[in-house]
Amino acid sequence: MYKFEDRIRDICKRLDIPSEYESRYGLPIQYEEDSLVEIGSDIYNRAQYLSKEAAISWNKMRKQANEEGIRLEVVSAFRSVDKQLSIIERKLEQGQSISEILEVSAAPGYSEHHTGKAIDITTPSGEPLVESFELTEAYRWLNKNASLYSFYLSYPRDNSGGVAYEPWHWAYCK
Ligand SMILES: [Zn+2]
Repeated sequence: MYKFEDRIRDICKRLDIPSEYESRYGLPIQYEEDSLVEIGSDIYNRAQYLSKEAAISWNKMRKQANEEGIRLEVVSAFRSVDKQLSIIERKLEQGQSISEILEVSAAPGYSEHHTGKAIDITTPSGEPLVESFELTEAYRWLNKNASLYSFYLSYPRDNSGGVAYEPWHWAYCK
Protein backbone atom coordinates (compact mmCIF):
# COMPACT_ATOMS: atom_id res chain seq x y z
CA MET A 1 0.00 0.00 0.00
CA TYR A 2 1.25 3.46 -0.89
CA LYS A 3 1.06 5.27 2.40
CA PHE A 4 0.54 9.03 2.85
CA GLU A 5 4.01 9.29 4.44
CA ASP A 6 5.61 7.61 1.41
CA ARG A 7 3.81 9.94 -0.96
CA ILE A 8 5.06 12.96 1.04
CA ARG A 9 8.61 11.60 1.13
CA ASP A 10 8.61 11.12 -2.64
CA ILE A 11 7.26 14.62 -3.30
CA CYS A 12 9.80 16.20 -0.94
CA LYS A 13 12.63 14.27 -2.57
CA ARG A 14 11.49 15.43 -5.99
CA LEU A 15 11.47 19.05 -4.79
CA ASP A 16 14.97 18.68 -3.26
CA ILE A 17 13.65 19.46 0.18
CA PRO A 18 16.41 18.59 2.66
CA SER A 19 15.75 15.47 4.75
CA GLU A 20 16.24 17.43 7.99
CA TYR A 21 13.33 19.74 7.06
CA GLU A 22 10.93 18.11 9.51
CA SER A 23 13.25 18.33 12.51
CA ARG A 24 14.56 21.79 11.66
CA TYR A 25 11.16 23.45 11.88
CA GLY A 26 9.65 20.94 14.30
CA LEU A 27 6.79 20.47 11.87
CA PRO A 28 4.78 17.24 12.01
CA ILE A 29 3.23 15.55 8.98
CA GLN A 30 -0.30 16.89 8.48
CA TYR A 31 -2.85 14.42 7.18
CA GLU A 32 -5.23 15.44 4.44
CA GLU A 33 -8.85 15.72 5.57
CA ASP A 34 -11.17 13.92 3.16
CA SER A 35 -14.48 14.96 4.64
CA LEU A 36 -14.97 18.65 3.97
CA VAL A 37 -17.76 21.17 4.30
CA GLU A 38 -18.07 24.36 2.27
CA ILE A 39 -17.82 27.55 4.32
CA GLY A 40 -18.65 30.02 1.55
CA SER A 41 -16.31 32.08 -0.58
CA ASP A 42 -12.99 33.66 0.20
CA ILE A 43 -12.04 37.24 -0.64
CA TYR A 44 -11.13 36.09 -4.17
CA ASN A 45 -14.52 34.47 -4.66
CA ARG A 46 -13.26 30.90 -4.54
CA ALA A 47 -15.24 28.34 -2.56
CA GLN A 48 -13.47 27.35 0.65
CA TYR A 49 -13.73 24.24 2.80
CA LEU A 50 -13.03 23.09 6.35
CA SER A 51 -13.55 19.86 8.24
CA LYS A 52 -17.07 19.58 9.58
CA GLU A 53 -16.28 20.43 13.20
CA ALA A 54 -14.01 23.33 12.29
CA ALA A 55 -16.62 24.67 9.87
CA ILE A 56 -19.37 24.64 12.51
CA SER A 57 -17.17 26.49 14.97
CA TRP A 58 -15.89 28.93 12.34
CA ASN A 59 -19.44 29.81 11.30
CA LYS A 60 -20.43 30.48 14.91
CA MET A 61 -17.35 32.59 15.55
CA ARG A 62 -17.77 34.60 12.38
CA LYS A 63 -21.43 35.26 13.16
CA GLN A 64 -20.67 36.42 16.69
CA ALA A 65 -17.87 38.70 15.45
CA ASN A 66 -20.21 40.13 12.85
CA GLU A 67 -22.80 40.90 15.52
CA GLU A 68 -20.10 42.84 17.34
CA GLY A 69 -19.24 44.81 14.21
CA ILE A 70 -16.11 42.82 13.33
CA ARG A 71 -15.87 41.31 9.86
CA LEU A 72 -13.82 38.15 9.56
CA GLU A 73 -13.06 37.12 5.98
CA VAL A 74 -11.41 33.99 4.62
CA VAL A 75 -8.20 34.13 2.60
CA SER A 76 -7.58 30.39 2.55
CA ALA A 77 -8.83 27.34 4.43
CA PHE A 78 -8.40 23.69 3.36
CA ARG A 79 -5.54 23.10 0.93
CA SER A 80 -4.65 19.70 -0.52
CA VAL A 81 -1.13 18.32 -0.77
CA ASP A 82 -1.38 18.61 -4.55
CA LYS A 83 -2.34 22.27 -4.27
CA GLN A 84 0.61 22.97 -1.92
CA LEU A 85 2.86 21.18 -4.43
CA SER A 86 1.62 23.32 -7.31
CA ILE A 87 2.14 26.54 -5.29
CA ILE A 88 5.75 25.54 -4.65
CA GLU A 89 6.33 24.44 -8.25
CA ARG A 90 5.03 27.80 -9.47
CA LYS A 91 7.48 29.66 -7.18
CA LEU A 92 10.33 27.45 -8.46
CA GLU A 93 9.36 28.29 -12.02
CA GLN A 94 9.47 31.97 -11.06
CA GLY A 95 13.11 31.47 -10.07
CA GLN A 96 12.92 31.24 -6.28
CA SER A 97 15.14 28.69 -4.57
CA ILE A 98 13.60 25.90 -2.52
CA SER A 99 15.15 27.28 0.70
CA GLU A 100 13.66 30.74 0.04
CA ILE A 101 10.27 29.17 -0.63
CA LEU A 102 10.36 27.09 2.56
CA GLU A 103 10.85 30.27 4.60
CA VAL A 104 7.24 31.21 3.84
CA SER A 105 5.51 28.06 2.54
CA ALA A 106 5.25 24.71 4.27
CA ALA A 107 6.47 21.70 2.31
CA PRO A 108 3.69 19.55 0.82
CA GLY A 109 2.47 17.28 3.60
CA TYR A 110 3.43 19.72 6.35
CA SER A 111 0.85 22.49 5.98
CA GLU A 112 -1.77 22.74 8.69
CA HIS A 113 -4.16 23.68 5.89
CA HIS A 114 -4.19 20.00 4.79
CA THR A 115 -6.12 19.10 7.96
CA GLY A 116 -9.13 21.26 7.13
CA LYS A 117 -8.77 22.87 10.54
CA ALA A 118 -6.60 25.88 9.67
CA ILE A 119 -7.85 29.13 8.27
CA ASP A 120 -6.14 32.33 7.14
CA ILE A 121 -8.26 35.27 8.20
CA THR A 122 -8.40 38.86 7.05
CA THR A 123 -10.71 41.82 7.46
CA PRO A 124 -11.82 44.49 4.96
CA SER A 125 -9.61 47.20 6.47
CA GLY A 126 -6.44 45.12 6.20
CA GLU A 127 -4.22 43.62 3.53
CA PRO A 128 -4.30 39.79 3.56
CA LEU A 129 -1.41 37.71 4.93
CA VAL A 130 0.73 40.51 6.33
CA GLU A 131 2.01 40.96 9.86
CA SER A 132 0.12 44.23 10.26
CA PHE A 133 -3.04 42.15 10.59
CA GLU A 134 -2.12 42.15 14.29
CA LEU A 135 -3.00 45.86 14.38
CA THR A 136 -6.58 45.38 13.19
CA GLU A 137 -9.70 45.28 15.34
CA ALA A 138 -10.37 41.84 13.90
CA TYR A 139 -7.11 40.53 15.31
CA ARG A 140 -7.81 42.07 18.69
CA TRP A 141 -11.23 40.45 18.66
CA LEU A 142 -9.77 37.05 17.74
CA ASN A 143 -7.12 37.31 20.40
CA LYS A 144 -9.79 37.80 23.00
CA ASN A 145 -12.51 35.46 21.68
CA ALA A 146 -11.18 32.79 19.31
CA SER A 147 -10.35 30.33 22.09
CA LEU A 148 -14.04 30.26 23.03
CA TYR A 149 -14.53 28.63 19.61
CA SER A 150 -11.42 26.44 19.94
CA PHE A 151 -9.42 28.46 17.41
CA TYR A 152 -5.81 29.21 18.31
CA LEU A 153 -2.94 31.05 16.70
CA SER A 154 -0.61 28.36 15.32
CA TYR A 155 2.50 30.45 14.84
CA PRO A 156 2.72 33.16 17.48
CA ARG A 157 5.63 35.57 17.54
CA ASP A 158 8.87 33.80 18.58
CA ASN A 159 7.29 30.33 18.47
CA SER A 160 9.49 27.42 19.46
CA GLY A 161 9.70 25.96 15.94
CA GLY A 162 11.10 29.21 14.54
CA VAL A 163 8.25 29.36 12.02
CA ALA A 164 7.53 32.89 10.76
CA TYR A 165 4.97 34.80 12.86
CA GLU A 166 1.51 34.52 11.24
CA PRO A 167 -1.13 36.55 13.10
CA TRP A 168 -3.68 35.65 10.39
CA HIS A 169 -3.35 31.85 10.65
CA TRP A 170 -5.71 30.23 13.17
CA ALA A 171 -6.43 26.55 13.67
CA TYR A 172 -9.33 24.70 15.22
CA CYS A 173 -8.01 22.46 17.92
CA LYS A 174 -10.18 20.36 20.16
ZN1 LIG B 1 -2.26 29.67 6.91
